[in-house]
Amino acid sequence: MVLRLYASGVPIDWLTLEEAAVLMSRRSEGAIVWTDGDGTHRLHGGTNALSGKQSYIDIPDVIGVAQHANTPLAYEHTGFNSALCKHREGLQCAYCGSSLSRQALTIDHVLPRSRGGRLSMLNAVACCQRCNSFKANRTPEEAGMALLLEPFVPTMAEVLYMMRPRQVTPLQLWYLRQQFRNAALRTYLSEALAA
Ligand SMILES: [Zn+2]
Repeated sequence: MVLRLYASGVPIDWLTLEEAAVLMSRRSEGAIVWTDGDGTHRLHGGTNALSGKQSYIDIPDVIGVAQHANTPLAYEHTGFNSALCKHREGLQCAYCGSSLSRQALTIDHVLPRSRGGRLSMLNAVACCQRCNSFKANRTPEEAGMALLLEPFVPTMAEVLYMMRPRQVTPLQLWYLRQQFRNAALRTYLSEALAA
């Protein structure tokens, strides 16, 4: 995967090698301002019938693209998204800490919906079905449950990291880390890096 950022350093998204190759081929149009980690990835194309050689294109690890005046800078991901909510906690139950697949995790309103709790990144956590059923229409305090992680609105850099923590290259991580804000995530990261 290739990390696409605005030239200013604000991350946008992940590109597949194919998507990055298309962007590279349009380089003359000025979309790409700079690249880093040139030649990290190599995408192979077809074989030339005459020479018998397979074509390839070298693709950088990080691509910085132009930002237009009307492009909003999405520093934070403010809207609610259940997948992000689950990845924010590292695919773990926010109450008992058990690791589960994204499909197996449920979304819990910390302040229950029946008490006016809204579905937002600050009032929702991912948890296992067991904890969710046990907590029911109660606050964590009433249910005697503790949150292992305080819900937070992630930055785009945190979101992109959480989407695929194991596939991020050291260079990509360097760029993303500049905009990590959450202390829990930073601690988790430094532990993961030290391990
Ligand atoms: Zn649980």
